[in-house]
Amino acid sequence: MKLLEIKGIGPRTAQLMEKLGIRTPEDLVRYYPAGYDEYGDPVRIADLRAGMRTAVTGTVTGQVLTHPAGRVKVTTTVISDAGGSIKLTWFNAPFMSRVVRKGSTYVFRGTVRERSGKLVIDHPEVYAPEKYSSLRNTLVPVYSLTKGLSGKTISKAVKSALEADPSLANEYLPETLMKLHGLMDEAEAVPAIHFPADADEFLRARTRLVFDEFFLFIIALRLMKAGGEEQENAFPMKEGWITEEVIERLPFSLTRAQTRVWREIETDLAGKSPMSRLIQGDVGSGKTVVAFLAMIMAASNGCQSVLMAPTEVLARQHFEKLEKLRAEQKLDVLRPVLLTGSMRAAERKEALKLIGNGQANAIVGTHALIQDAVSYRCLGLVITDEQHRFGVRQRSVLRERGHLPHTLVMSATPIPRTLGAILYADLDISVIDELPASRMPVKTAVVDESFRDRLFCFMQKQLDSGRQCYVICPMIEPSEDFDTYSVTEEAEKFKKALPGFRTEILHGRMKAEEKNDIMNRFLSGEIRVLVSTTVVEVGVDVPNASVIAVLGAERFGLAQLHQLRGRVGRGGHQSYCVLLAGQTPPGTAERLNVLKETTDGFVIAEKDLLLRGPGDLLGIRQSGEAGFRIADITKDGSILRMAGNIAAGVLQDDPALAGDDYRALRDRIDRYISTNEPNFSL
Ligand code: ADP
Ligand code: MG
Repeated sequence: MKLLEIKGIGPRTAQLMEKLGIRTPEDLVRYYPAGYDEYGDPVRIADLRAGMRTAVTGTVTGQVLTHPAGRVKVTTTVISDAGGSIKLTWFNAPFMSRVVRKGSTYVFRGTVRERSGKLVIDHPEVYAPEKYSSLRNTLVPVYSLTKGLSGKTISKAVKSALEADPSLANEYLPETLMKLHGLMDEAEAVPAIHFPADADEFLRARTRLVFDEFFLFIIALRLMKAGGEEQENAFPMKEGWITEEVIERLPFSLTRAQTRVWREIETDLAGKSPMSRLIQGDVGSGKTVVAFLAMIMAASNGCQSVLMAPTEVLARQHFEKLEKLRAEQKLDVLRPVLLTGSMRAAERKEALKLIGNGQANAIVGTHALIQDAVSYRCLGLVITDEQHRFGVRQRSVLRERGHLPHTLVMSATPIPRTLGAILYADLDISVIDELPASRMPVKTAVVDESFRDRLFCFMQKQLDSGRQCYVICPMIEPSEDFDTYSVTEEAEKFKKALPGFRTEILHGRMKAEEKNDIMNRFLSGEIRVLVSTTVVEVGVDVPNASVIAVLGAERFGLAQLHQLRGRVGRGGHQSYCVLLAGQTPPGTAERLNVLKETTDGFVIAEKDLLLRGPGDLLGIRQSGEAGFRIADITKDGSILRMAGNIAAGVLQDDPALAGDDYRALRDRIDRYISTNEPNFSL
């Protein structure tokens, strides 16, 4: 079945869906909601607070009046209950005067805002009380959308897709296993994640789908590994003087942890079998330079190496740094080249030529690197930066080109050792558990909207003294469904408040060339304020930036905020992280305060887990640029353990999954590896 064959999807809708990465019916049913709207119990008017999205039961006590205000028509009225009253406002909805009658009682549902010191509810939905009772406690999916595409369209399309082809959500585990571990049936879980009857069903569906992600990942990895057991080191390298000299001439001395990890890599590269190593190091611990050393060692041993980054922005930055190191230290042995998806055809051709004939030996880029057109001369080392997960396909593709190269994965995600061992069972793990001594801790403040003017003022001062600032928002565009900060809206505000300082925006839906251009101009210092989504979360290094303001900070996990905070404090300047919480459900401040108290990524990840109740799972799910679709390594540790155990049991029972019991699983794994791959690896 094709996307266009699904009822309700025409060419225009298909085009819009493509923007969200939905290209097949599979993609569609796996496009899980970003959150859920809950029809909660109505609250009393006296308990309403600005920022709440909630329902109230009220009797219409005011006239329902419509008057023009500029180009819009505003309809207002007042409702009351035993304890108070509040104004309601609708925009361009004069028909409300026929829907809502004075003297009648309804349930109104919307977002409470404060205007001129008074509370109002903007554009509330209206329900007859009986109707609302029937909806109570159900969850309505809220999807991350693009302009022109509604959540309803997605919901309907998901429904028709699942009706037309039930095999889109097929159980693949033997029934006994499923029952034994109390897992929800896959065929129930997929519809249930889109249309949960209640929070309990949602949680059970989520558990199952998180399980799927871990389980399939682990099995795929094990099967790939089974083919490559006991490999010889096809690229034995000699330790040399060059790397020692490079270390000597660096503008800083390596930390003890960096040195230790570097020695481990050096030993691996010279060892009997190919290296498979994961470097874990908190944000700012200096992983890049270690990767560069490995690339230099490979080059001086006549091998090519590649360094892959999850984003184009980061790839370019790595390339420029490596190029700078080569020039500064006159490293003739190193011949770097950049290869990314957005390069012009001629540039790309030239790069491919240099890679093919071996003239380039240190190749930096994005996943374009693993496309079929790339052929290497003698690829001895593959490094993946900022990777939460390890691309199975990526490795197999590179292996097919010849002998298995050494692999190094670098991650800033603080995965507890025991979980890392399950997820990365085939990797040795090194930890850089020390920050460079010159690092000044980033000062962190937790504030609310009332701090806005002081924030502008503070940023102005920092900008005046030559620094640069990041402003991070949870959304790209304003959305009816989520009342929070957006890049487009905030950029206007910051431009107005900080005239004279160039302010630009950056987000994941921009074209690669635009993103590069913006990022380069931020790096060069021309752009002073960058208003962005979390696309800067991974890896970006602009030492002159001294402030990061995260708006709607309550929307992010602590670990993610920690990564964002790691964007500043990289140069010698005292740096600041301002966490501005918008709506603050209880407990938010306590959660954000953890970041004030510690800068240790592991501690933060643990607290994150502790302080986030299951209810928080209903919040906005981040796009997960480098993560699983729905699973969260730190939060879902117990599901990961279960998946690890079940996977081990299954593979012990039938290592090749050849028996009838596992036929469905085998099919699913094959499909997983072949269809999921572009996402799966990068
Ligand atoms: P991450 O581990 O987050 O990838 P980077 O490799 O980007 O960190 O390093 C962060 C910054 O710290 C870079 O500007 C880098 O040049 C610098 N750096 C790396 N190692 C050291 C060190 N030992 N002493 C001082 N600065 C260092
Ligand atoms: Mg990095």
